[in-house]
Amino acid sequence: MTRPLIARVDSAALAHNLGVARAAAPHSKILAVVKADAYGHGLTRTARALRGADAFAVLRVEEAAQLRGEGYSHPIVLLEGFFHPDELPEIARLRLRPVIHRADQADILARTKLNQRVDVWLKLNTGMNRLGIDPKRLPETLTTLRAAPHVGSITLMTHFASADEENDSVERQLARFQEATRNLGLPASLANSAALLRHPQSHADWVRPGIMLYGASPFASSTLADQTGEDIGLLPAMTLESKLIGIQFVHRGEGVGYGARYIAERDMKIGVVACGYADGYPRHADTGTPILVDNQLTRTLGRVSMDMLNVDLTPIPTAHVGSPVTLWGSGAVGGSADLRNRRAPCGCSGLPVEHVAAAAGTLSYELLTALAPRVRVEET
Ligand SMILES: *Cc1c(COP(=O)(O)O)cnc(C)c1O
Repeated sequence: MTRPLIARVDSAALAHNLGVARAAAPHSKILAVVKADAYGHGLTRTARALRGADAFAVLRVEEAAQLRGEGYSHPIVLLEGFFHPDELPEIARLRLRPVIHRADQADILARTKLNQRVDVWLKLNTGMNRLGIDPKRLPETLTTLRAAPHVGSITLMTHFASADEENDSVERQLARFQEATRNLGLPASLANSAALLRHPQSHADWVRPGIMLYGASPFASSTLADQTGEDIGLLPAMTLESKLIGIQFVHRGEGVGYGARYIAERDMKIGVVACGYADGYPRHADTGTPILVDNQLTRTLGRVSMDMLNVDLTPIPTAHVGSPVTLWGSGAVGGSADLRNRRAPCGCSGLPVEHVAAAAGTLSYELLTALAPRVRVEET
Protein backbone atom coordinates (compact mmCIF):
# COMPACT_ATOMS: atom_id res chain seq x y z
CA MET A 1 0.00 0.00 0.00
CA THR A 2 1.12 3.52 -0.72
CA ARG A 3 -0.16 6.85 0.54
CA PRO A 4 -3.80 6.92 -0.55
CA LEU A 5 -3.82 10.40 -2.09
CA ILE A 6 -4.39 10.13 -5.82
CA ALA A 7 -5.45 12.42 -8.65
CA ARG A 8 -7.52 10.61 -11.24
CA VAL A 9 -7.43 12.17 -14.66
CA ASP A 10 -10.32 11.16 -16.85
CA SER A 11 -9.34 11.23 -20.52
CA ALA A 12 -12.92 10.64 -21.64
CA ALA A 13 -13.92 13.79 -19.74
CA LEU A 14 -11.16 15.78 -21.49
CA ALA A 15 -12.36 14.54 -24.88
CA HIS A 16 -15.97 15.29 -23.93
CA ASN A 17 -15.07 18.85 -22.94
CA LEU A 18 -13.24 19.38 -26.22
CA GLY A 19 -16.49 18.32 -27.90
CA VAL A 20 -18.37 20.95 -25.88
CA ALA A 21 -15.91 23.59 -27.10
CA ARG A 22 -16.34 22.43 -30.70
CA ALA A 23 -20.10 22.54 -30.46
CA ALA A 24 -20.01 26.03 -28.96
CA ALA A 25 -17.62 27.39 -31.62
CA PRO A 26 -18.43 25.25 -34.67
CA HIS A 27 -16.84 27.60 -37.21
CA SER A 28 -13.52 28.10 -35.44
CA LYS A 29 -10.41 26.00 -35.10
CA ILE A 30 -9.47 25.01 -31.58
CA LEU A 31 -6.15 25.88 -30.02
CA ALA A 32 -6.17 23.69 -26.90
CA VAL A 33 -4.29 25.48 -24.14
CA VAL A 34 -2.13 22.89 -22.35
CA LYS A 35 0.25 25.25 -20.53
CA ALA A 36 1.18 24.65 -16.89
CA ASP A 37 1.43 20.90 -17.42
CA ALA A 38 -2.05 20.98 -18.92
CA TYR A 39 -3.45 22.86 -15.92
CA GLY A 40 -1.97 20.19 -13.65
CA HIS A 41 -3.43 17.23 -15.55
CA GLY A 42 -0.15 16.16 -17.19
CA LEU A 43 0.92 17.32 -20.63
CA THR A 44 1.47 13.90 -22.17
CA ARG A 45 -1.81 12.31 -21.15
CA THR A 46 -3.80 15.46 -21.82
CA ALA A 47 -2.42 15.93 -25.32
CA ARG A 48 -3.32 12.33 -26.06
CA ALA A 49 -6.90 12.89 -24.89
CA LEU A 50 -7.13 16.18 -26.79
CA ARG A 51 -5.38 15.09 -29.98
CA GLY A 52 -8.58 15.99 -31.84
CA ALA A 53 -7.81 19.68 -31.26
CA ASP A 54 -6.44 21.69 -34.18
CA ALA A 55 -3.40 22.99 -32.31
CA PHE A 56 -1.79 23.15 -28.87
CA ALA A 57 -0.61 26.16 -26.84
CA VAL A 58 2.21 26.03 -24.29
CA LEU A 59 4.71 28.51 -22.85
CA ARG A 60 8.09 26.85 -23.04
CA VAL A 61 10.05 25.43 -25.95
CA GLU A 62 10.75 22.38 -23.75
CA GLU A 63 7.04 21.57 -23.53
CA ALA A 64 6.64 21.99 -27.27
CA ALA A 65 9.68 19.78 -27.88
CA GLN A 66 8.11 17.12 -25.68
CA LEU A 67 4.94 17.18 -27.80
CA ARG A 68 6.97 16.97 -31.01
CA GLY A 69 8.94 14.07 -29.48
CA GLU A 70 5.66 12.29 -28.81
CA GLY A 71 4.79 12.58 -32.47
CA TYR A 72 2.32 15.45 -32.58
CA SER A 73 2.46 17.39 -35.82
CA HIS A 74 -0.20 19.91 -34.74
CA PRO A 75 0.69 23.59 -34.86
CA ILE A 76 2.07 24.55 -31.45
CA VAL A 77 1.78 28.16 -30.27
CA LEU A 78 4.20 29.58 -27.69
CA LEU A 79 1.96 31.95 -25.73
CA GLU A 80 4.78 34.13 -24.38
CA GLY A 81 6.80 33.91 -27.58
CA PHE A 82 10.57 33.68 -27.40
CA PHE A 83 12.42 35.00 -24.36
CA HIS A 84 15.83 35.22 -26.00
CA PRO A 85 16.90 35.27 -29.66
CA ASP A 86 18.95 32.11 -29.13
CA GLU A 87 15.68 30.15 -28.93
CA LEU A 88 14.74 31.01 -32.49
CA PRO A 89 16.64 28.27 -34.38
CA GLU A 90 14.99 25.60 -32.18
CA ILE A 91 11.60 27.27 -32.58
CA ALA A 92 12.05 27.20 -36.33
CA ARG A 93 13.35 23.62 -36.37
CA LEU A 94 10.38 22.38 -34.31
CA ARG A 95 7.96 24.44 -36.44
CA LEU A 96 6.59 26.28 -33.42
CA ARG A 97 4.55 29.44 -33.69
CA PRO A 98 5.80 32.10 -31.29
CA VAL A 99 3.54 34.91 -30.16
CA ILE A 100 5.19 38.21 -31.06
CA HIS A 101 4.01 40.61 -28.37
CA ARG A 102 6.58 43.43 -28.50
CA ALA A 103 7.68 45.43 -31.52
CA ASP A 104 11.35 44.69 -30.81
CA GLN A 105 10.62 40.96 -31.04
CA ALA A 106 9.43 41.48 -34.59
CA ASP A 107 12.71 43.30 -35.35
CA ILE A 108 14.79 40.52 -33.78
CA LEU A 109 12.91 37.79 -35.60
CA ALA A 110 13.21 39.65 -38.90
CA ARG A 111 16.97 40.12 -38.41
CA THR A 112 17.77 36.55 -37.36
CA LYS A 113 18.90 34.24 -40.16
CA LEU A 114 16.80 31.07 -40.06
CA ASN A 115 16.70 28.16 -42.44
CA GLN A 116 13.07 27.28 -41.81
CA ARG A 117 9.97 29.37 -42.14
CA VAL A 118 8.40 30.55 -38.88
CA ASP A 119 4.65 31.17 -38.66
CA VAL A 120 3.85 33.74 -35.99
CA TRP A 121 0.95 34.95 -33.89
CA LEU A 122 1.06 38.70 -33.49
CA LYS A 123 -0.55 39.92 -30.31
CA LEU A 124 -2.30 43.26 -29.89
CA ASN A 125 -2.95 44.93 -26.57
CA THR A 126 -6.58 45.97 -26.82
CA GLY A 127 -7.08 46.88 -23.18
CA MET A 128 -5.85 44.15 -20.87
CA ASN A 129 -2.45 45.84 -20.65
CA ARG A 130 -0.54 42.63 -20.22
CA LEU A 131 1.18 41.40 -23.40
CA GLY A 132 0.75 42.86 -26.86
CA ILE A 133 1.80 45.69 -29.12
CA ASP A 134 -0.07 48.97 -29.32
CA PRO A 135 -2.59 48.61 -32.17
CA LYS A 136 -1.24 51.88 -33.59
CA ARG A 137 2.05 50.13 -34.28
CA LEU A 138 0.46 47.24 -36.14
CA PRO A 139 1.12 48.55 -39.68
CA GLU A 140 4.86 49.07 -39.14
CA THR A 141 5.21 45.74 -37.31
CA LEU A 142 3.48 43.95 -40.16
CA THR A 143 5.82 45.66 -42.62
CA THR A 144 8.84 44.45 -40.62
CA LEU A 145 7.57 40.88 -40.44
CA ARG A 146 6.50 40.70 -44.07
CA ALA A 147 9.87 41.94 -45.26
CA ALA A 148 11.58 38.94 -43.67
CA PRO A 149 11.64 35.99 -46.09
CA HIS A 150 11.64 33.44 -43.26
CA VAL A 151 8.46 34.78 -41.63
CA GLY A 152 5.53 32.71 -42.82
CA SER A 153 1.87 33.15 -41.97
CA ILE A 154 0.74 35.78 -39.48
CA THR A 155 -2.25 35.24 -37.18
CA LEU A 156 -3.49 38.22 -35.19
CA MET A 157 -4.55 37.77 -31.61
CA THR A 158 -5.61 39.59 -28.48
CA HIS A 159 -6.70 38.54 -24.99
CA PHE A 160 -9.74 39.64 -22.99
CA ALA A 161 -9.40 40.97 -19.47
CA SER A 162 -12.95 40.31 -18.26
CA ALA A 163 -14.69 37.86 -20.58
CA ASP A 164 -15.98 36.08 -17.48
CA GLU A 165 -17.86 39.11 -16.22
CA GLU A 166 -21.07 40.92 -17.02
CA ASN A 167 -19.85 44.15 -18.55
CA ASP A 168 -19.04 45.60 -21.93
CA SER A 169 -15.27 45.10 -21.82
CA VAL A 170 -15.36 42.31 -24.41
CA GLU A 171 -17.29 44.58 -26.77
CA ARG A 172 -14.80 47.39 -26.24
CA GLN A 173 -11.74 45.19 -26.77
CA LEU A 174 -13.37 43.50 -29.76
CA ALA A 175 -14.12 46.87 -31.35
CA ARG A 176 -10.54 48.02 -30.84
CA PHE A 177 -9.25 44.80 -32.36
CA GLN A 178 -11.56 45.00 -35.35
CA GLU A 179 -10.72 48.60 -35.99
CA ALA A 180 -6.99 47.88 -35.99
CA THR A 181 -7.20 44.74 -38.13
CA ARG A 182 -9.95 45.59 -40.59
CA ASN A 183 -9.20 44.82 -44.26
CA LEU A 184 -5.94 43.03 -43.44
CA GLY A 185 -7.39 39.66 -44.35
CA LEU A 186 -5.36 37.90 -41.67
CA PRO A 187 -6.66 35.07 -39.47
CA ALA A 188 -7.54 36.11 -35.92
CA SER A 189 -7.89 34.66 -32.43
CA LEU A 190 -9.45 36.31 -29.39
CA ALA A 191 -11.54 33.95 -27.27
CA ASN A 192 -10.49 32.15 -24.09
CA SER A 193 -12.97 29.73 -22.47
CA ALA A 194 -15.20 32.47 -21.10
CA ALA A 195 -15.47 34.28 -24.43
CA LEU A 196 -15.89 30.99 -26.28
CA LEU A 197 -18.90 30.18 -24.11
CA ARG A 198 -20.49 33.62 -23.80
CA HIS A 199 -19.30 35.82 -26.65
CA PRO A 200 -19.78 34.02 -29.98
CA GLN A 201 -19.13 37.30 -31.83
CA SER A 202 -15.49 36.95 -30.70
CA HIS A 203 -14.90 33.42 -32.02
CA ALA A 204 -13.04 34.39 -35.23
CA ASP A 205 -10.71 31.80 -36.82
CA TRP A 206 -9.22 30.29 -33.69
CA VAL A 207 -10.63 29.92 -30.18
CA ARG A 208 -8.24 29.27 -27.27
CA PRO A 209 -10.01 27.26 -24.56
CA GLY A 210 -8.07 26.29 -21.45
CA ILE A 211 -9.99 25.84 -18.20
CA MET A 212 -13.18 24.52 -19.84
CA LEU A 213 -11.26 21.59 -21.35
CA TYR A 214 -10.50 20.51 -17.80
CA GLY A 215 -14.16 20.67 -16.86
CA ALA A 216 -14.18 23.78 -14.69
CA SER A 217 -16.22 26.90 -15.25
CA PRO A 218 -14.41 30.09 -16.26
CA PHE A 219 -17.16 32.10 -14.55
CA ALA A 220 -16.51 31.13 -10.97
CA SER A 221 -15.13 34.47 -9.80
CA SER A 222 -17.79 36.56 -11.42
CA THR A 223 -21.40 37.44 -10.85
CA LEU A 224 -22.16 34.02 -12.38
CA ALA A 225 -20.35 32.53 -9.41
CA ASP A 226 -22.62 29.64 -8.75
CA GLN A 227 -22.15 28.20 -12.19
CA THR A 228 -19.97 25.12 -12.12
CA GLY A 229 -18.46 23.27 -15.05
CA GLU A 230 -21.18 20.70 -14.75
CA ASP A 231 -23.87 23.39 -15.03
CA ILE A 232 -22.51 24.23 -18.46
CA GLY A 233 -22.24 20.65 -19.68
CA LEU A 234 -18.61 19.99 -18.81
CA LEU A 235 -17.22 17.02 -16.93
CA PRO A 236 -14.49 17.33 -14.30
CA ALA A 237 -11.26 15.92 -15.71
CA MET A 238 -9.50 15.68 -12.36
CA THR A 239 -10.74 13.99 -9.22
CA LEU A 240 -8.53 14.35 -6.16
CA GLU A 241 -9.22 11.61 -3.67
CA SER A 242 -7.71 10.19 -0.55
CA LYS A 243 -8.70 8.28 2.55
CA LEU A 244 -9.18 8.79 6.24
CA ILE A 245 -5.97 7.73 7.95
CA GLY A 246 -7.04 8.64 11.48
CA ILE A 247 -10.07 9.27 13.66
CA GLN A 248 -10.20 11.43 16.78
CA PHE A 249 -12.92 12.00 19.32
CA VAL A 250 -12.76 15.55 20.59
CA HIS A 251 -14.63 17.07 23.46
CA ARG A 252 -16.54 20.29 23.37
CA GLY A 253 -14.12 23.19 23.79
CA GLU A 254 -11.05 21.36 22.49
CA GLY A 255 -9.03 22.76 19.60
CA VAL A 256 -8.32 21.00 16.32
CA GLY A 257 -5.07 21.28 14.37
CA TYR A 258 -2.33 23.94 14.30
CA GLY A 259 -3.22 27.05 16.20
CA ALA A 260 -6.42 25.37 17.43
CA ARG A 261 -8.23 27.39 14.83
CA TYR A 262 -11.32 25.27 15.21
CA ILE A 263 -12.83 24.77 18.67
CA ALA A 264 -15.27 21.88 18.97
CA GLU A 265 -18.82 23.15 19.55
CA ARG A 266 -19.77 19.79 21.05
CA ASP A 267 -18.29 16.36 21.57
CA MET A 268 -17.60 15.12 18.08
CA LYS A 269 -15.88 12.58 15.88
CA ILE A 270 -13.40 13.98 13.40
CA GLY A 271 -11.37 12.40 10.62
CA VAL A 272 -7.81 12.97 9.46
CA VAL A 273 -7.30 12.97 5.68
CA ALA A 274 -4.00 12.25 3.92
CA CYS A 275 -3.86 15.48 1.92
CA GLY A 276 -2.29 18.81 2.80
CA TYR A 277 -0.93 21.99 1.31
CA ALA A 278 2.27 20.27 0.13
CA ASP A 279 -0.01 18.26 -2.15
CA GLY A 280 -1.51 21.42 -3.62
CA TYR A 281 -4.59 21.60 -1.41
CA PRO A 282 -5.10 25.29 -0.56
CA ARG A 283 -3.83 26.25 2.86
CA HIS A 284 -6.27 29.14 2.90
CA ALA A 285 -9.24 26.77 2.90
CA ASP A 286 -10.70 27.53 6.27
CA THR A 287 -13.09 25.59 8.48
CA GLY A 288 -16.20 24.87 6.44
CA THR A 289 -14.58 24.08 3.10
CA PRO A 290 -16.73 21.40 1.45
CA ILE A 291 -15.33 17.86 1.24
CA LEU A 292 -16.86 14.43 0.65
CA VAL A 293 -16.35 11.47 2.96
CA ASP A 294 -17.92 8.25 1.71
CA ASN A 295 -19.48 10.43 -1.00
CA GLN A 296 -21.30 12.48 1.60
CA LEU A 297 -20.84 16.18 1.97
CA THR A 298 -19.15 17.46 5.08
CA ARG A 299 -16.67 20.21 5.97
CA THR A 300 -13.02 20.67 6.84
CA LEU A 301 -12.07 21.76 10.34
CA GLY A 302 -9.22 24.04 11.36
CA ARG A 303 -6.00 24.72 9.50
CA VAL A 304 -4.79 22.62 6.63
CA SER A 305 -1.40 21.12 7.56
CA MET A 306 1.41 20.32 5.16
CA ASP A 307 0.37 16.69 4.73
CA MET A 308 -3.05 16.37 6.37
CA LEU A 309 -6.35 18.05 7.04
CA ASN A 310 -9.26 17.41 9.39
CA VAL A 311 -12.89 16.77 8.59
CA ASP A 312 -16.12 16.80 10.55
CA LEU A 313 -17.59 13.28 10.67
CA THR A 314 -20.82 14.30 12.40
CA PRO A 315 -22.94 13.72 9.25
CA ILE A 316 -21.19 10.40 8.49
CA PRO A 317 -21.28 8.32 11.70
CA THR A 318 -20.22 5.17 9.85
CA ALA A 319 -16.96 6.70 8.57
CA HIS A 320 -13.84 4.78 9.59
CA VAL A 321 -10.14 4.63 8.87
CA GLY A 322 -9.95 3.86 5.17
CA SER A 323 -13.18 5.64 4.21
CA PRO A 324 -12.80 7.34 0.81
CA VAL A 325 -12.47 11.12 0.73
CA THR A 326 -13.05 13.31 -2.31
CA LEU A 327 -11.20 16.63 -2.14
CA TRP A 328 -12.72 17.69 -5.47
CA GLY A 329 -14.03 16.17 -8.66
CA SER A 330 -16.55 13.44 -9.33
CA GLY A 331 -17.56 11.11 -6.53
CA ALA A 332 -15.08 8.51 -5.32
CA VAL A 333 -16.67 5.74 -7.37
CA GLY A 334 -17.07 7.92 -10.46
CA GLY A 335 -15.40 6.53 -13.53
CA SER A 336 -15.50 7.30 -17.20
CA ALA A 337 -17.54 4.23 -18.10
CA ASP A 338 -20.79 6.11 -18.36
CA LEU A 339 -20.40 9.84 -18.74
CA ARG A 340 -24.08 10.51 -18.29
CA ASN A 341 -24.39 8.48 -15.16
CA ARG A 342 -21.68 9.80 -12.92
CA ARG A 343 -23.72 10.46 -9.84
CA ALA A 344 -22.19 9.17 -6.68
CA PRO A 345 -24.39 6.68 -4.76
CA CYS A 346 -25.62 9.49 -2.52
CA GLY A 347 -27.24 11.15 -5.53
CA CYS A 348 -24.80 14.04 -5.29
CA SER A 349 -22.63 14.67 -8.27
CA GLY A 350 -19.23 14.84 -6.69
CA LEU A 351 -17.70 18.05 -5.47
CA PRO A 352 -17.05 20.85 -7.97
CA VAL A 353 -13.49 22.18 -7.71
CA GLU A 354 -15.05 25.65 -8.07
CA HIS A 355 -16.73 25.24 -4.67
CA VAL A 356 -13.48 24.30 -2.97
CA ALA A 357 -11.72 27.21 -4.69
CA ALA A 358 -14.43 29.65 -3.59
CA ALA A 359 -14.07 28.52 0.02
CA ALA A 360 -10.31 29.13 -0.23
CA GLY A 361 -10.72 32.54 -1.85
CA THR A 362 -9.22 31.44 -5.14
CA LEU A 363 -10.03 29.94 -8.53
CA SER A 364 -10.18 26.43 -9.89
CA TYR A 365 -7.27 27.46 -12.14
CA GLU A 366 -5.00 27.82 -9.14
CA LEU A 367 -6.07 24.60 -7.44
CA LEU A 368 -5.67 22.48 -10.55
CA THR A 369 -2.30 23.92 -11.55
CA ALA A 370 -0.99 23.66 -7.98
CA LEU A 371 -1.29 19.87 -7.83
CA ALA A 372 2.08 18.85 -6.41
CA PRO A 373 4.47 16.48 -8.20
CA ARG A 374 4.37 14.07 -5.25
CA VAL A 375 0.70 13.30 -5.89
CA ARG A 376 0.24 10.04 -7.73
CA VAL A 377 -1.75 10.50 -10.93
CA GLU A 378 -3.79 7.72 -12.46
CA GLU A 379 -5.52 7.91 -15.77
CA THR A 380 -9.01 6.53 -16.08
C1 LIG B 1 -4.16 30.75 -20.59
C2 LIG B 1 -4.61 31.41 -21.82
C3 LIG B 1 -5.81 31.04 -22.44
C4 LIG B 1 -6.78 30.06 -21.84
O1 LIG B 1 -7.60 30.73 -20.90
P1 LIG B 1 -8.80 29.98 -20.13
O2 LIG B 1 -9.43 31.03 -19.30
O3 LIG B 1 -8.16 28.92 -19.29
O4 LIG B 1 -9.68 29.43 -21.17
C5 LIG B 1 -6.12 31.61 -23.66
N1 LIG B 1 -5.31 32.54 -24.21
C6 LIG B 1 -4.16 32.94 -23.62
C7 LIG B 1 -3.32 33.97 -24.27
C8 LIG B 1 -3.78 32.41 -22.41
O5 LIG B 1 -2.65 32.83 -21.81
